Amino acid sequence: MSQVAVFETVKAMREAVAAWHAAGEKVALVPTMGALHEGHIALVTEAQKHARRVIVSIFVNPTQFAPHEDFKKYPRTFDSDRAQLEAANADAIYFPAVEEMYPPGFASRVLLLGPAAVGLEDRFRPTHFEGVATVCCKLFTQSKADFAVFGEKDYQQLKVVTRMAHDLDLGIEIVPLATFRETDGLAMSSRNRYLSADERALAPTLHRVMQALAARIRNDDPLFQAVADAQTEIITAGFELDYLEARHADTLAPVTSRADGPIRLLIAARLGATRLIDNIGV
Ligand code: AMP
Repeated sequence: MSQVAVFETVKAMREAVAAWHAAGEKVALVPTMGALHEGHIALVTEAQKHARRVIVSIFVNPTQFAPHEDFKKYPRTFDSDRAQLEAANADAIYFPAVEEMYPPGFASRVLLLGPAAVGLEDRFRPTHFEGVATVCCKLFTQSKADFAVFGEKDYQQLKVVTRMAHDLDLGIEIVPLATFRETDGLAMSSRNRYLSADERALAPTLHRVMQALAARIRNDDPLFQAVADAQTEIITAGFELDYLEARHADTLAPVTSRADGPIRLLIAARLGATRLIDNIGV
């Protein structure tokens, strides 16, 4: 276990990265909002396969939360995060204050089309991705990292960020990593700690229903009916369903059958005040 450096400013991070690059070392960035769990640590381990140096950013980004969302109560657990990153041998934490990221007068946003405008998360969180993309664009250019690792857990986000990095020539390679799950199938998430005991017991239903749906689609059951049945099952189990859809795995465009291309199933559902998202390939 090594001591992990903590950078609070762009300048401090850039100096470290410049020294690493001068020594011929590649740098990978793992953007997070903290409240780290094993899924985040898996991203660090993946990053270490691509680059000698790994920076984990911890920034609860206000611009990706709508006014009614959980920005204020989002868990902030820096000491535990730092201990986990030390144990994982990360090289540095980038932990900027909101004013470092958004100084007075800040007035720019990345405008997104394509996978950011397909009627999934963007339908329910209309300003979310411009906040995500803007902060990721800043994190990439601030750090000048060679790689950035993102989880498939946030599948639409992964597609949006990958598209943006390519379209805007940001000079960074986006590396995806499969979703890390609890033993009962629930996708690990910082928001799982909001769940009551009863809600936590119900939450793995999402993954179970998605797996059964994927099996039906692989068996060539009619897609529309299989999706409709799965939606009913989620609602009957006690979730408020925002969406459960079958989409093209690359473009996120709607699909009507397996002939339309590789399929990704994506879901967002609420249990009480907690909104859960998940997705799997077919
Ligand atoms: P967050 O801190 O939740 O905003 O997520 C930071 C990064 O961790 C994103 O790239 C997420 O997709 C990824 N991530 C979150 N949960 C998981 C998980 N269970 N498995 C893999 N990656 C995850």
